Amino acid sequence: MQDLMAYLQTQLPGMTALLSDLVNIESHTDDKAGVDAVGRVIAAILRDLGAHVHIDRQAEAGDHLVGVFNAGSGSPISLYLHMDTVYPAGTLAQRPVRVVDGRLYGPGANDMKASHVVALYALRALRATGLWPTREMRLVFTSDEETGSHTSRKLIEDTARDAALAMVMEPALPDGGLKSSRKGTGLFKVVARGKASHAGAAHALGVNAIQEIAHQVLKVQALTDYQRGVTFSVGAIRGGGVTNVVPDYAELEVDTRVSRAEDAEWVRSVMMGLTPVLAGSSLEVTGELNRPPMECDAERIATFDRVREIGRAIGLELTHGPSGGGSDASFTAALGVPTLDGFGAVGDGAHALHEHVVLSSLPERAALCAAVLSAW
Ligand SMILES: [Zn+2]
Repeated sequence: MQDLMAYLQTQLPGMTALLSDLVNIESHTDDKAGVDAVGRVIAAILRDLGAHVHIDRQAEAGDHLVGVFNAGSGSPISLYLHMDTVYPAGTLAQRPVRVVDGRLYGPGANDMKASHVVALYALRALRATGLWPTREMRLVFTSDEETGSHTSRKLIEDTARDAALAMVMEPALPDGGLKSSRKGTGLFKVVARGKASHAGAAHALGVNAIQEIAHQVLKVQALTDYQRGVTFSVGAIRGGGVTNVVPDYAELEVDTRVSRAEDAEWVRSVMMGLTPVLAGSSLEVTGELNRPPMECDAERIATFDRVREIGRAIGLELTHGPSGGGSDASFTAALGVPTLDGFGAVGDGAHALHEHVVLSSLPERAALCAAVLSAW
């Protein structure tokens, strides 16, 4: 086990170069060509390492791919990684890859191209040290995690169902901790319809849809309950047209999060039960809870305890904690598959301007990943 860490410490230049190469291919979720270009680089490395690579072709989204090692032997471990980022093409020109004080900055570096490097080098280290496991291992690279995994969810569930462990390779907590709970996420849209009328000549005959949606914004925002772990955030409003017409259309979009599965149905029912405030206006609500919450239950703690023991064998002292964001861990955990998240690199600023990876964490995280694959 010590050999893994020693070997990977010698691989930092190669890991940094691969990370830089991957960040230099822009791969926003909507950019199929970009995501597929990342997929080609990864598929080539997987084949080099001896994987059978299955490509799950998509018409609109980027293709998903699964690298399978030791097919059919032992109880499988599945690793989940996404290739898409939240950054539209052109971001890189404004914020090129740069290394400052041992940190690599660049769009999508931490979330989660560093995780690709961690997983791929973990396998390389297992080959190099003779610790190659006999069990089946699946590396699942998907293309649409950042927008809710609409085309990849089935693949994620199908590759998790019989797994002994699902390792979700999202970035670590800032202190290197693993992510043991995730909020469930949902997106709802509320459309208000009023009655158009001349804003001067017939003001009294109009029903102002913007006024109606304003009432709904305040109602929805007030549902947030931090104690209960339930949040509502109206993130977009649209409506109206010209100032001399009473507007007959306005809409809002709201992001909802829940900590506990039992609150998901409450959020759905309260959203679907919204009623108009103004006489003569109407509401239409659409949306759903897309990802269930991953709760930190006894099973999660038991899984973490095993990983912590393995971490100690390679000199890491691991902690665990919650994450407010959503991830595909919610899908595998909901199937009852032992799941832990946050096996990726240490860094900060996911989805933000200062997104970066602490380069010294790459060998450590790869060693952890390899050790878990070998010892589980
Ligand atoms: Zn991510």
